Amino acid sequence: KEAKLLAGSAAPAITKDGRRITVGANAEFVEELPHIRECGAEGVGLFRTEFLYLEDPEAPEDRLTDAYIQVVKAASPNLVVFRTLDIGGDKLDPAYKGEDEQNPFLGWRGIRVSLARPKMFREQLRAMLRASLHGPVGIMYPMVCSVREVVEANAHLAECRRELEEEGLVFTHPVQRGAMIEIPSAATIADLLAPHVDFFSIGTNDLVQYTLAVDRVNERVGDLYQPTHPAVLRLIRNVVEAAHQKGVWVGICGEMAGDVAATPLLVGLGLDELSASSGQVARVKHAIRQLDAGECARLVQESLLESEAETIHERALEFALHHY
Ligand code: PEP
Ligand code: MG
Repeated sequence: KEAKLLAGSAAPAITKDGRRITVGANAEFVEELPHIRECGAEGVGLFRTEFLYLEDPEAPEDRLTDAYIQVVKAASPNLVVFRTLDIGGDKLDPAYKGEDEQNPFLGWRGIRVSLARPKMFREQLRAMLRASLHGPVGIMYPMVCSVREVVEANAHLAECRRELEEEGLVFTHPVQRGAMIEIPSAATIADLLAPHVDFFSIGTNDLVQYTLAVDRVNERVGDLYQPTHPAVLRLIRNVVEAAHQKGVWVGICGEMAGDVAATPLLVGLGLDELSASSGQVARVKHAIRQLDAGECARLVQESLLESEAETIHERALEFALHHY
């Protein structure tokens, strides 16, 4: 069955009623790149920068550029979405940042670190821009919680681009700007963020954690970690509606994107893109092809009347089992 899934996976994922949904792969190591095409992924929906820093804490611009170019070449002509460094929380040694924090998940993390360390941030932005000479690139910021952060990050990006043009680079591919939506404040003000970006990528791993106040790595509260909680689904719905009103596309790059039991809900919520681990890409594409987006929208409407995450999960699972 696995072989059959993979054999058909290169084709686009289009629902029975004609809605095309892009399915990308998540990646963090250059070694993973051969799998991206093999699994049928349409580009990379999330390339995490953290591991490049883990390999070499200095991560000089040229080294980052080499790694990013390899990713773009492996995915071209499809889009690669690079995420700027997201240290903090569960990622990298806290010693890396030079101080201990009592609540690292609520602390100095993601874009907060980048805006406070512009030299490090701009090395990444320059490397990503240089990689865009080899194919289409998206650049997104993690852990956004306010408009000001996106405006500041965009200003750095624009300056880096100007610098590179002065150095003689001629940009031939579009570079899209994106914000990760993984904090409830960002999901709530998606309409205010949208004018500053080309796309949103919803990070459900963190969005679930912060919405439900459930530590994503604490097994003690693991049963409370519920991606189908109505509060999470309402936030996702708000993000999609606000984005589409402003002509901004929306993807999901959290684990939820690779869970085929959730696919009917995500299709019904109107997501434009799903980015999953390469091992799940063929399954997700297969699932989308068995679904009718209109029916999925009705499933979402009915599910949003339910109060319990378990009930919504069961409903979606039953729907999925009925279709694939
Ligand atoms: C997420 O939060 O869903 C996400 C994709 O980012 P990470 O898991 O790297 O925090
Ligand atoms: Mg995250």
